[in-house]
Amino acid sequence: MAKIMKAVRLEAVGSIALREVDKPDIGPDELLVRVEACGVCGTDRHLFHGEFPCTPPVTPGHEFSGIVEAIGKSVSGFAVGDRVTGDPNIACGRCAHCHAGRVNLCSNLRAIGIHRDGGFAEYLALPQKQAFILPASLKPTHGAFCEPLGCCLHGVELAEIRPGSSVAVLGGGVIGLLTVQLARLAGATTIILSTRQASRRALAEDLGATATVDPTAADVINTVAGPAGLAPGGVDVVFECAGVRETVEQSMRLARAGGTVVIVGVTPQGMKAEFEPFDLLFRELKVLGSFLNPYTHRRAAELIASGTIEIDRLISRQVALEDAAAVIANPPAPGEVKVLVVPHPG
Ligand code: NAP
Ligand code: ZN
Repeated sequence: MAKIMKAVRLEAVGSIALREVDKPDIGPDELLVRVEACGVCGTDRHLFHGEFPCTPPVTPGHEFSGIVEAIGKSVSGFAVGDRVTGDPNIACGRCAHCHAGRVNLCSNLRAIGIHRDGGFAEYLALPQKQAFILPASLKPTHGAFCEPLGCCLHGVELAEIRPGSSVAVLGGGVIGLLTVQLARLAGATTIILSTRQASRRALAEDLGATATVDPTAADVINTVAGPAGLAPGGVDVVFECAGVRETVEQSMRLARAGGTVVIVGVTPQGMKAEFEPFDLLFRELKVLGSFLNPYTHRRAAELIASGTIEIDRLISRQVALEDAAAVIANPPAPGEVKVLVVPHPG
């Protein structure tokens, strides 16, 4: 068996390239995973630009799935040949937040693809406690969506959507489009998506949005919450999934009195947004942050394995490892939703 493999290495901020490296040695509690697909996420681009802390050199890629090729000697419950997805976020299990069951807030959180080598490689080492089995029959590319779906699932659960609820989703990237699908599954009957690109609005309508808004062509607040709007007085739940000031500010005004705002989008650190505390108080808004995927990865995997979530239409293109560094170093192309890196094509 070859001891050398190809991996995309972030060597320093602004420096990323395909390299030949040693195939990972696995510890007793780890699986060696032959990567089938790994999604490119905005965070990978932030790492490249130095906008998100990490410790290069490292192989990025935290949205991965693949086939178990070898197992450490203390591993149980996994076998060579299993298809697995990995939750990249490793909580320490011993800090006050972990002990309180808030593993996403762990003081010593370490992530595969950020602090240790991830999925933009032929192989990766995956601790067994982060691994979840997927059906052998699943399309190899679909497992890469468990991590982003798990993050959306956390947001939807925090929002406590009830059957018949009305929902607005701001931002039609992969996170917004997965949230639209989860809101529909949770029983929302009005689901409004605001995003600028027409192709994403059309896709959202196919995936369960009952209406879409072009924020460059219409006043979003009036179109949604105005007296003659799509949800007069506002919606029960707003998901901010764009991570820009404009949508953060809109979200407070789109929620109905007594409604809930869930901030999912990652705004640049230090960015400020304006809201009126009086309005928040007078209309008893609930404003929640939703961070990562605590205890949702297994259910995300179940949703994907069952075919309940449309995945194929979210995949804009698949690229080989040779092209991954360029994809990460450049902004997404117009219309693109998710690019997958497929290390072993064919
Ligand atoms: P994305 O592809 O960049 O999607 C965000 C989209 O928002 C943009 O592509 C853009 O689409 C849209 N947008 C920008 N300005 C807008 C505006 N003024 N009004 C309406 N829409 C606007 O990113 P993503 O992968 O879907 O992720 C979405 C956000 O969630 C990011 O900030 C990401 O970092 C964050 N995230 C958070 C978590 C978590 O745990 N909380 C996990 C994963 C990702 P158009 O060009 O169509 O407008
Ligand atoms: Zn911890």
